[in-house]
Amino acid sequence: MGTLLSSLLAPFARRFIAGTTLAEALAVASRLKTQGFATTVDHLGENVTSASEAQRATDQYIIILKALKERNLDRNVSVKLSQIGLMIDPDLCAANLDRIVSAAAEMNGFVRVDMEGSNVTQAIVDQVIRAKKARITPVGVALQAMLKRTPEDALTLIEHGAGIRLCKGAYKEPRDIAYREMTEVRREFASLAKRLLTSGVYHGIATHDKALIEELEAFAKAQKINPDRFEFQMLLGIRRKLASSIAASGWRMRIYIPFGRAWLPYMLRRIRERKENAWFVVKHLFVR
Ligand SMILES: Cc1cc2nc3c(=O)[nH]c(=O)nc-3n(C[C@H](O)[C@H](O)[C@H](O)COP(=O)(O)OP(=O)(O)OC[C@H]3O[C@@H](n4cnc5c(N)ncnc54)[C@H](O)[C@@H]3O)c2cc1C
Repeated sequence: MGTLLSSLLAPFARRFIAGTTLAEALAVASRLKTQGFATTVDHLGENVTSASEAQRATDQYIIILKALKERNLDRNVSVKLSQIGLMIDPDLCAANLDRIVSAAAEMNGFVRVDMEGSNVTQAIVDQVIRAKKARITPVGVALQAMLKRTPEDALTLIEHGAGIRLCKGAYKEPRDIAYREMTEVRREFASLAKRLLTSGVYHGIATHDKALIEELEAFAKAQKINPDRFEFQMLLGIRRKLASSIAASGWRMRIYIPFGRAWLPYMLRRIRERKENAWFVVKHLFVR
């Protein structure tokens, strides 16, 4: 089933992922750099179930960081903890995370921990705080505006000096713990983002939502927050013109570059969050 789905979605996936190899991801990072964007590289993969796979994924991230450094590209990677052992053993995951963050520290880089489903939110927040306490520092984490717990998580993480990537949240969560209406999620996002922008810690505002971005640009201007005190972030292949115009107005814009063979779960999230994508796929299948 997975293989069939992969082959059906492959043509569609090309818009959203750099390719399956590191060379392709580096080429995209290099092109985006010349266009004035910052970047972060994600080696796709999640929910790994063996320690050796988690080890390999960790080694891969260190190779990626070195390759980025050699080419003078942003040493910034995005990592899913479930790819480096979170589902197997928290200690294994911690050791792997520390290896990646220490490698990033040596080359003046940064590791962003992606946020995953709510079954692991606490474990992910705990891992990042543990790393911060152990002074394994160039690490931050994504938080999801849709989760009702996020204001508290944001406070705790800021207390530990951890930079946050605020996003709406790409996982389907139950009503008792998450806002499900888009108006509620947008309201939460705006209010959280404003708190982040005035927190004194460097954060990322990750959304393609033009109205939200404009509201936050206006807020930053009114509060006299310098454009170098935070960044906007977008995913590769989504709202490219908007990303360019934001960067051209002098704001920092980082593009998230996913690559690798394990792209199916990532693609399914991109399809689920936008019904036009589902229609595009369906049309493609019948018009081939
Ligand atoms: C840099 C970055 C990192 C992220 N990291 C995480 C993470 O760690 N954990 C997590 O749960 N989620 C993550 N997300 C995903 C996020 O949670 C949302 O699911 C996703 O960004 C869609 O929400 P939106 O804010 O862009 O607003 P939406 O209201 O969904 O979209 C606004 C507009 O953007 C465009 N758009 C949005 N999504 C798509 C799409 N899939 N295809 C085509 N057009 C689209 C459309 O024009 C749409 O009208 C990340 C998002 C970004 C930008």
